Amino acid sequence: MAKSVKLNTGADMPTLGLGTWKSPPGKVTDAVKAAIDAGYRHIDGAYVYENEKEVGTAVVQKIQEGVVKREDMFIVSKLWCTFHEKPLVKVGCRKTLDALKLDYLDLFLMHWPMGFKAGDDLFPSDDQGKVITSDVDLLETWEGMEELVDAGMVKAIGVSNFNHEQLERILNKPGLKYKPANNQVECHPYLTQVKLIEYCHSKGITVTAYSPLGSPDRPWAKPEDPSLLDDPRIKEIAVKHKKTSAQVLIRFQVQRNVICIPKSITPERIQENCQIFDFELSQEEMNTILSFNNGWRVCAMTMSIGHKDYPFTAEF
Ligand code: NDP
Repeated sequence: MAKSVKLNTGADMPTLGLGTWKSPPGKVTDAVKAAIDAGYRHIDGAYVYENEKEVGTAVVQKIQEGVVKREDMFIVSKLWCTFHEKPLVKVGCRKTLDALKLDYLDLFLMHWPMGFKAGDDLFPSDDQGKVITSDVDLLETWEGMEELVDAGMVKAIGVSNFNHEQLERILNKPGLKYKPANNQVECHPYLTQVKLIEYCHSKGITVTAYSPLGSPDRPWAKPEDPSLLDDPRIKEIAVKHKKTSAQVLIRFQVQRNVICIPKSITPERIQENCQIFDFELSQEEMNTILSFNNGWRVCAMTMSIGHKDYPFTAEF
């Protein structure tokens, strides 16, 4: 099982990365250090997680200690929705680079296809709680992303939460300079994304699975929600392999060439989540897991339903 996938830029992207959404600033530095010590070489972050300074502290320290070189690390971040106007794309990326104290990112993603009103408020909303949109076109934002590559600020660019019609718009854009290298989307056994993954792979676009464990620490979790980590059908497969449910959920993704970014701030779990290259799920087990698909979503971004570029109304 390959430990990395090739991007359409020629670069190798490690198939396992550490997620950092909801990792508190006071905890994330130690989590990233533990991950690097455990062998992780890919860290997934974003401006909107409001912890990039603390993520960067860990990466820079591990480089200074000589544990890793910058070129061994694969650092991902994302352009927030309030920076979609073309001239703001560079501003958004610069804020991330300054916070991380790094010269470049390995991959920079447009976090959502939707633009929000520019300004300091990350979730500008009206009195009904609906997001205040910006009418900028995502193709304009993409041109801004392309400029970051030319400026040497990022090695590769991609998108996140895009449906295949939105990807198609970029791929068909007149004068397109760089194709998206990656689409980061929610993906786990309840949202298997078979069609979207097939589409992306057929276009040479890699896919990263976010919330691969079902995001049990999502702020809007309700007790009656389904739980992947407690699903007896996943547990049964895990027991057979003397592995944990989390390891099966992660292995499920990497075994189908999908990059996977489980989040943890717990050293034992960070360790556990990377022990996934020493066992294999049978084709039957893969098919069984795929059959659990029921369309359940962690990140539906409900405040922006109705936005002209809301991604989750398309079939895939
Ligand atoms: P995950 O599915 O990775 O679940 C994280 C939760 O699982 C945490 O509560 C963590 O606890 C717990 N956990 C981790 N490992 C184990 C384990 N081995 N056993 C039991 N529990 C475990 O959720 P996320 O939503 O955080 O998704 C992962 C990453 O994907 C994010 O952190 C972010 O980087 C990215 N993401 C991107 C989005 C986008 O729009 N592009 C949206 C959502 C996520 P603890 O930390 O306490 O150990």
